[in-house]
Amino acid sequence: MISPSTFKHSVTERFLRYVVIDTQSDPSSPTCPSTPKQKDLGRVLAAELKEMGAVDAHLDEHGYVYATIPANTTKKVPVICFCSHMDTSPDCTGRNVKPQIVRNYRGGDIVLPADPAQVIRAAEHPALADQIGNDIITTDGTTLLGADNKAGLAEIMDAAQFFIQNPQLKHGTIKILFTPDEEIGRGVDKVDLKKLGAEFAYTIDGETAGHIEDETFSADGATITIEGVSTHPGFAKGKMEHAIKIAAAIVDRLPKDTCSPETTEGKQGFLHPIAISGALEQATLGFIVRDFTDDGLKQKEELLEAIVKDVMKDYPRSTYRMEIREQYRNMKQVIDRHPETVDYAVEAIRRSGLEPVRGSIRGGTDGSRLSFMGLPCPNVFAGEHAFHSRLEWVSAQDMEKAVQTIVHLAMIWEERA
Ligand SMILES: [Zn+2]
Repeated sequence: MISPSTFKHSVTERFLRYVVIDTQSDPSSPTCPSTPKQKDLGRVLAAELKEMGAVDAHLDEHGYVYATIPANTTKKVPVICFCSHMDTSPDCTGRNVKPQIVRNYRGGDIVLPADPAQVIRAAEHPALADQIGNDIITTDGTTLLGADNKAGLAEIMDAAQFFIQNPQLKHGTIKILFTPDEEIGRGVDKVDLKKLGAEFAYTIDGETAGHIEDETFSADGATITIEGVSTHPGFAKGKMEHAIKIAAAIVDRLPKDTCSPETTEGKQGFLHPIAISGALEQATLGFIVRDFTDDGLKQKEELLEAIVKDVMKDYPRSTYRMEIREQYRNMKQVIDRHPETVDYAVEAIRRSGLEPVRGSIRGGTDGSRLSFMGLPCPNVFAGEHAFHSRLEWVSAQDMEKAVQTIVHLAMIWEERA
């Protein structure tokens, strides 16, 4: 057991340095990284890794940071990787972040100093109740904080330094990977898994301390293209079949009380229109389909097609085309073949003095894509809360727990090898 006091302060000090570097990503940019400023942080991280003695620490031309902490054991241990993303969400500005620390939180609401309209209310943020006595880091209320995912960066960096300074703690080869553009869904587009050379990975990008997630949605996109029958509106009686009206009828017949984002939670999936465009002759409907199982996805796609067919009965001379595109798959399909990845993380969380909680993510992560690219990759907590907003916060103590969890995790892989 490593004494918790070992990890005091340094992770927070790192975190405060990283959040003031603006790394907002931009979905409209075609480049990688989407914004060159993400490399500003990448350069800092690569230099710090080099300075602490990590091997081959570098920032590549696409904005990825790679580094290695060599094994210090004679055992043959699988190579594991810890991964976090450097960018922050395009939904909320990340320029001029001014972090504030509420020391020894006594409960109640936290009013952010530069904009008193921004209040982290205890009633709306129940996780605050577990933070009594902790030091809570917020913004001044004018920007997001970027704990998503700079808490993860700081935690991995701190764990790396800890291993290098404590060679008596045995571990296999540890790889470090920091990615750009996760928030715009492109975080693993240019990752070089061959160069990384890891067998198992963990994203450190989860919310509440103690949580580990090994399940994500499975996701498809569906496009329905409707060809109507166009005629001059003055001479259309009995002839015209309006593609816009057909599309509208399809949307109208979607289930009202189930199967939508606004009516589902937990393990329930949904069918969700995200785009509609068209004219008299042709209209296009875009959907996203989400579920935790392939069967669930299929059912929803069949339901959608049944609705379309039923609507088309009223328009006998019009036609439709439905295309399904796979987006990503529930990482559990891959991770279940390697249950030790989760079991060891659960044990590491317990050794850090927390109650492990296994959960699922109603969305995708870099880890879901990495898992299907051959690198099984569950998600471990980083302590970030209310991300993508000006009310974002993280506690110093939760970050210290995450550092401990990373350290224990690497040691457990060595122990069990
Ligand atoms: Zn994140």
